[in-house]
Amino acid sequence: MRIGFVGLGIMGKPMVRNLLKAGHEVIVYDVVTPNVELMVKEGAIAASSSKAVGEQCSLVITMLPNGPHVLSVCIGENGLLAGMKPGSILIDMSSIAPLVSQQVEKACVEHSIRMLDAPVSGGEPKAIDGTLSIMVGGDEELFKEVYDVLNVMGSSVVLCGKVGAGNTTKLANQIIVALNIAAVSEAFMLSTKAGVDPEKVFAAIRGGLAGSTVMNAKVPMILEGNFKPGFKNVLHIKDLDNAIETGHSVGAPLPLTVAVMEMLQNINLDGHGQDDHSAIVTYYEKLANTMIRKS
Ligand code: NAD
Repeated sequence: MRIGFVGLGIMGKPMVRNLLKAGHEVIVYDVVTPNVELMVKEGAIAASSSKAVGEQCSLVITMLPNGPHVLSVCIGENGLLAGMKPGSILIDMSSIAPLVSQQVEKACVEHSIRMLDAPVSGGEPKAIDGTLSIMVGGDEELFKEVYDVLNVMGSSVVLCGKVGAGNTTKLANQIIVALNIAAVSEAFMLSTKAGVDPEKVFAAIRGGLAGSTVMNAKVPMILEGNFKPGFKNVLHIKDLDNAIETGHSVGAPLPLTVAVMEMLQNINLDGHGQDDHSAIVTYYEKLANTMIRKS
């Protein structure tokens, strides 16, 4: 089928590649022209604006940094809703505040457009493999209707509740990932300062209860001092900001999230904002004046 796709960054590009590979025709737009040109070289068709994508497609996917970008692409001037026909489907796969998803849904309803929020977890490697975990919010019938398209990009596609529930689930995911990286950093600093080789610590504990997908993905990066994103610290700051705001609005105190948020703020000030979130370790390295690296 013909699918519109807006937002061709680290995640959007491999997701578009998988849609093309599955035989879909993909109409793309991004404010960064080289991203569009690259996708056109690989078989996508360029549109001149989000509105133009909406005019040509009855199903449009967005993969943008945060709520303000989604609002601008969907309901802004020259936005998707100005072009999409009644009955069309919008799937926002960006990680944004659940309240903003609901705000977009309200605008969609006014245009008779059906909408799901469907943020993802798994990062660039799983976007490339088409094995993302996709957390969906919205109507069950609509979920069933688009399941096969989502399944091209993800190996786990779960309906979590109404619109906004996908992003609430994603915020829970992001809290666990950030706190897990901080816990790994803290524990590996302890063992490094105590003179135990971090490679041996990793080998010894990764298969036990402390082991995790986060540990397996991030410890090798930390040991190499390789902080190429991956998932940028500025995006994790955005997610924790959305989590803290949502926590306040629903009455859920998030003390550990706030602590790790302050670590992220600090490393952002130190110039690591565009690095991978495994660079949370640099906060501990500064505190302890010691690097955690392969010997
Ligand atoms: P990115 O910054 O690499 O890509 C975002 C893209 O959106 C960019 O190409 C940018 O030019 C484009 N864009 C911004 N404003 C636009 C506009 N008004 N019109 C058209 N295009 C616009 O970000 P990413 O890493 O691909 O992440 C996208 C979303 O997925 C974020 O919400 C992020 O939190 C989430 N996410 C990322 C990862 C990851 O590992 N990178 C993992 C899971 C979820």
